[in-house]
Amino acid sequence: MTRLYNAPADFADEMIAGFVAANGRHVRAVPGGVVRSTTSPAGQVAVVIGGGSGHYPAFGGLVGQGLAHGAAMGNLFASPSTQQVRSVATAAEHGGGVLFSYGNYAGDVLNFDAAQEQLRAAGIPSETVTVTDDISSAPAAEKHKRRGIAGDLTVFKSAAAAAEAGYGLAEVVRVARLANERTRSFGVAFTGCTLPGSDAPLFTVPEGRMAVGLGIHGEPGIDETDVPTADGLAELLVSSLLAEVPDGVDGARGARIVPILNGLGALKYEELFVVYRRVAELLEQAGVEIVDPHVGEYCTSFDMAGGSLTLFWLDDELERLWNAPVDTPAYRHGAVTAAERRHADEVTDAASTAIPVGSPASQQAAATALGAIEATVEVIDAHVDELGRLDAIAGDGDHGIGMQRGAHAALAAAREAAQAGAGAATLLDRAAHAWSDRAGGTSGALWGVALRSVGSALGDHAAPTRQAVVAGVASAADGIMAYGKAQPGDKTMVDALLPFSAALRRGVDGGARLADAWAAAADVASEAAAATADLLPRMGRARPHAEKSLGTPDPGAHSFALIVQAVGSVLAGDAGTRKEDQHA
Ligand code: ADP
Ligand code: MG
Repeated sequence: MTRLYNAPADFADEMIAGFVAANGRHVRAVPGGVVRSTTSPAGQVAVVIGGGSGHYPAFGGLVGQGLAHGAAMGNLFASPSTQQVRSVATAAEHGGGVLFSYGNYAGDVLNFDAAQEQLRAAGIPSETVTVTDDISSAPAAEKHKRRGIAGDLTVFKSAAAAAEAGYGLAEVVRVARLANERTRSFGVAFTGCTLPGSDAPLFTVPEGRMAVGLGIHGEPGIDETDVPTADGLAELLVSSLLAEVPDGVDGARGARIVPILNGLGALKYEELFVVYRRVAELLEQAGVEIVDPHVGEYCTSFDMAGGSLTLFWLDDELERLWNAPVDTPAYRHGAVTAAERRHADEVTDAASTAIPVGSPASQQAAATALGAIEATVEVIDAHVDELGRLDAIAGDGDHGIGMQRGAHAALAAAREAAQAGAGAATLLDRAAHAWSDRAGGTSGALWGVALRSVGSALGDHAAPTRQAVVAGVASAADGIMAYGKAQPGDKTMVDALLPFSAALRRGVDGGARLADAWAAAADVASEAAAATADLLPRMGRARPHAEKSLGTPDPGAHSFALIVQAVGSVLAGDAGTRKEDQHA
C-alpha cells in the first residue's frame, strides 16, 4: 500500500522534484528526467538510461559520476515519452555520442528508438543496448525478447565505467553487450503492489503462494508454488541461474561471479540476508568464486514483496570496469575524484514555440477536432477501470491510466491551441505531442502518431474534405504500423484500426456523408476489437503471456473502438448543423 501522496496524478512529478531537491550533489532536473549535476570531460560518451518511475533506485538514483549521465524518468510504470528521452539525452550529451540502455520493454523500446532517431538526425551519434537479464521472460533461444530487471545495474555500470575510461561509442556498445550477455536474473513475488491513489493492488498473488518469474510490473509469471523456506528459495534461484551458463564461459566451476540479491520493495533486508546465506553456500558448492556480492534494493516495484537473484559472470575487463568508483544518490563504490559542478544551462523545449493561426475554415475543422478530443476524454474516463483490467490480464494493467493521462493532456493542449486560433493540423499536432508526452507507454506513442497523421492530412488552411479525413486515417494506420511494427493478427490496436480505415474509405468512396461513413466504420471497429479476443498477442507486453489473453479482447483495440464510436457521435451532431456535404 502506498500511503503518502497528494493528487495521485502528480505523484511522479512530485517524487522527482523531491528526489532532485535531496540529491543536488549528484543530479539536476531537466525536462523529462535528470542529468548529472557534475561536469564530464568533453568527448566522453554519455550513458542515458531510463524507464517508468516506481523502481527506485532505478533509474534516477543511478545517475552520477561513474554511472549514468542522465535518466529519462517516465510516469509510474510507464515508459518515458520520446520527447522526455530526447530532452534528457540532449542535456547529457558531451560530444562523445550517446549510449541508450534500459530494460527491454515495448513502450521503452518504441520511445527510446524514436528519440535515438531524432538525435541521429541532429548529428549526435547514438546507439542502444537493451538489458535482457530476466531468464523467465523468454527461452534462451529468444534472449532478445527477454525483459530487463535488476541486471540493469551491471550493464549500466560496465558501460558507464567504459565511458569514464575514455572508450569511444563503439567500444562502450561492445562492453554493454558483453555485460548484458553475461548477466542473468531470476525472480519471484509474494504480493502485488499498489500504485498511489489506487484502492486495489495492480495484481495479486494468492496468500501463501509465490509467483515464479513474475515481472516487475506484474506481468504474469511462469509458475506458482507454495512459499518455500528461505533456503528453498535460494535453491530455486541458484539452480535456475546455474542452468544457463552464458556463452564464452566454461561452466560455474572457477567462474568469477558478482551475485546481486535484489529486494522488490517490501522484502526486509534481514530476509534477504537469510536467503543470501544459502545462496553463497550453494554458489561455493558449485565452485563459483564470489566477487563483491550485493544484497539490497537495486530495482524495486513500489511495495511489491519479492526479489530476484542476478549473476554477473565476469571476465577480466568486466571485473576491472565493475570495480571502478561510482558516486550516485543510491549507489556508491570506492572513491571518485569529485568533478566540478555543471552550470545550469537551460534546455528549451520545442513545444514552447508560438501557435500559428489557421484559416477560418480550418479553425472550424479544429473546433470539430477539439470536440472529438473532448468526447475521447469522456469515453476514456468512463472506461478507465475496464481498460486497466483488460491490460492486467496479460499486460501490465496501465492501459486505462495511460490513456486517461494522454487524453486529458491532449485536451488541455488542444484547448490552448483552439483559443490561439490554430487550424486543424496545428491543434492535432499539439494534442499529439501532449498525448505522447504525458501518457508514456506504447499506446501513448502510437496515439501521438495517429493524431499527428490525421492533422497533417487536414492541414491548417483548406476546409478538410471527406477524402482528406480518409487519407488522414489511412496515414495514421501506416504510421502506427511503421512505428510499432505490428502486423494484422498480432492482437494490437492495428486489428481494429485497419478494418476501420478500410470501412471508412469504402463508405466515403461509395458517396456516404462523412458522419455516416464514420458511424458504419466505427461499428466495424467495435466488431473487430471484440474479435481480437480469439487472437494470440505477438507484440508488446502481452506477448510473453500470450495464452493468458485468449478469450479477452486486446485493450488497445478496445479503447480504439470506444474512441471512434465517441468521435462518431460528435461528427453526427456536427453534420446535423451543417449543410455543405462535400466538406467534413
Ligand atoms: P504498454 O504496452 O506500454 O503498457 P498500454 O498498456 O497503454 O502500453 O497499451 C497497450 C496496447 O498498445 C495493446 O493492447 C496494443 O493494442 C497496443 N500495442 C502494443 N504494442 C503495439 C505495437 N507494437 N503496435 C501497435 N499497437 C501496439
Ligand atoms: Mg500496458
